[in-house]
Amino acid sequence: MDKVILIKYGELSTKSGNRNYFINTLYRNIENKLRKYEVKIHKDRARMYIEFLEKDLDSIKSIIDKIFGIHKYHIASIVDVNDEIIQKKVLEIVKLEKFSTFKVEVKRSNKKFPISSMDYNRVLGGLILKNIPSISVDVHHPELLIKIEIREKETFIYCNQYLGSGGYPVGTQQRGLLMLSGGIDSPVAGYLSLKRGVIVDCVYFEAIPHTSIEARNKVISLCRKLVSYTDRIHLHIVNFTPIQEAIYKNCREDYCITIMRRMMYRIMDRICSLYDAKVIINGESIGQVASQTLTSLSVINSVTNVPVIRPLACFDKLEIIDIAKKIDTFDISIIPYEDCCTVFVPKHPVINPRLDVCLEEEEKFDYQSMIEIAVESINTISIVENESLEFSNYL
Ligand code: ATP
Ligand code: MG
Repeated sequence: MDKVILIKYGELSTKSGNRNYFINTLYRNIENKLRKYEVKIHKDRARMYIEFLEKDLDSIKSIIDKIFGIHKYHIASIVDVNDEIIQKKVLEIVKLEKFSTFKVEVKRSNKKFPISSMDYNRVLGGLILKNIPSISVDVHHPELLIKIEIREKETFIYCNQYLGSGGYPVGTQQRGLLMLSGGIDSPVAGYLSLKRGVIVDCVYFEAIPHTSIEARNKVISLCRKLVSYTDRIHLHIVNFTPIQEAIYKNCREDYCITIMRRMMYRIMDRICSLYDAKVIINGESIGQVASQTLTSLSVINSVTNVPVIRPLACFDKLEIIDIAKKIDTFDISIIPYEDCCTVFVPKHPVINPRLDVCLEEEEKFDYQSMIEIAVESINTISIVENESLEFSNYL
């Protein structure tokens, strides 16, 4: 094998104190995602490289593209630290490319290699000029940039670059619980949180028979998309029907949505402590609907001390849609099934709710015991990429 996937960490490299922790997590994630392939993964503090079988390159690339913590990567030739061999390989590589201007960039971290980077740039540049007709050197805007990294045990040579997903490896942060509806926003919020390294599990509030099994399946399909960025997602399904019906039976119509969301947050708070999740994540975006004005968010938020992460708080809908399309959740999200938030929408939901009114309205039914029952009867599904569903009691 003379080709490898050479991975650069990017943002990781700014973490000096816990650098090894980040690299080891990334290593484990790559190893886990590529476990079906015949590969060998090598790591050091600056880079990782993967030996692979040529036939698997395209599939491996599409997996690598979804692993957070990879800033960029190259398909590089790997040869010994030997001038003659390097020269031969450089020529072989550039002869396959079409270009009229080029630049050679040598990085020599192995100081035992007898020629300095500057001198070796000249040697290799001269070699290319001599062997390929009608080309010239352009150090500012070359059409072809040939990089040669001379390291302790091996030399990497490459002239391509692929962008990775960036972010931090999933698992470098603790667990967060994503409120996952079937809409466009929440899967995007989940994706962005995974990108920061958060282990994401999901909670779906359903109100059967007001919502359908198809609506639930839609949420499961969204989890299946998200799980390609991580190894496993637990989806906790909450039976929200009794609480929702009690709200609509007992409370002021214009406050129903505000109170419903306060109940969701109370349940989220409970699930967070059960599963040791540090944050609640959701797809709320400032001003998007009545329950997302700053006053609404504050009144709704006041039922919990668990931090609420709203990755989309300041995003426009069109920006959110762009990401939803990129991560392939958009087409699922727009399938028209009702959500528990949309089944009982009041004609004029309050835009600036008052906390005292919420408290007064909530006095009208015994929500605490209903929350207990809802939490006790949670149904958890474990979702793993390419595997059939596993229903389990996760606790
Ligand atoms: P849309 O893309 O249509 O806005 P949405 O899912 O964002 O869909 P909102 O009414 O804006 O719907 O809800 C705000 C947030 O509350 C969602 O992004 C989601 O995180 C959470 N949420 C809403 N309904 C549910 C539900 N049934 N189960 C879990 N979380 C929910
Ligand atoms: Mg929304």
